[in-house]
Amino acid sequence: MLAVAGCLALAACSGDAAGPPTATSSAGASRGPSSAGSSAAPSAPSSAGPVAGAPVVVLDPGHNGGNAAHRAEIGRPVPDGRGGTKPCNTTGTATDAGYSEHAFNFDVAQRTERVLEAAGVRVVLTRPNDVGVGPCVDVRGTAGQRADAAAVVAIHADGAAPSGSGFHVALASPPLNPAQAGQARALGTALHDALRGAGFHDSTYLGERGISSRPDLAGLNFATRPAALVECANMRNPAEAAVVSSADGRQRYAAALAAGILAYLRHP
Ligand code: ZN
Repeated sequence: MLAVAGCLALAACSGDAAGPPTATSSAGASRGPSSAGSSAAPSAPSSAGPVAGAPVVVLDPGHNGGNAAHRAEIGRPVPDGRGGTKPCNTTGTATDAGYSEHAFNFDVAQRTERVLEAAGVRVVLTRPNDVGVGPCVDVRGTAGQRADAAAVVAIHADGAAPSGSGFHVALASPPLNPAQAGQARALGTALHDALRGAGFHDSTYLGERGISSRPDLAGLNFATRPAALVECANMRNPAEAAVVSSADGRQRYAAALAAGILAYLRHP
């Protein structure tokens, strides 16, 4: 509706063959908030009962399973949100054993979606599956405003030197609008605190106490809704590779991300 002229122009330049830039949630309204009520999500200490008002949250699982086979398509330049350009998308990283970041991101997003929906949140994913191409980072970056979202969380894992470990939360900096200046930081802090509360540790190699201020992430630069990007782990670190490769580990990340999002929604 108020979908912003610039947004339309940007969307138009993402002619990815890959399908819809913003896919609506697969689950939708079939599960009512009431299903969550009684027992509260097991891993969300600050969540008691459904969130009021059925807010929308965009989850943006980074990269995509078809990207590696479409290098030219994902390599083409798109606006970066600060007057420059960067590639439409990238392939992401993987563990040494070959478990891919795009698969991790999508699985954690789906798990997070389930926890959030049980708490009465409506979830929109930026891609409907893990076999497509893109969408481009500029399109991902405007997904929050298109969905009229209360929060946007991009889910990634890093591929750094094997000695480094831990998670970090990236925020657009310097801020380009009021949401980036204020609420995004509150969202990032809530995500950080929830991940710490779930037993994950601040990155040993990047950011300051688990928070990283970044000017170069188009997915954050374009956001006019509170947005944060979480690098959950370093997939090249052997110990963390084991965690991200296990369903239990991914559920722990999802529970923590959902707890952080719910904490933010309750006290933005
Ligand atoms: Zn990534």
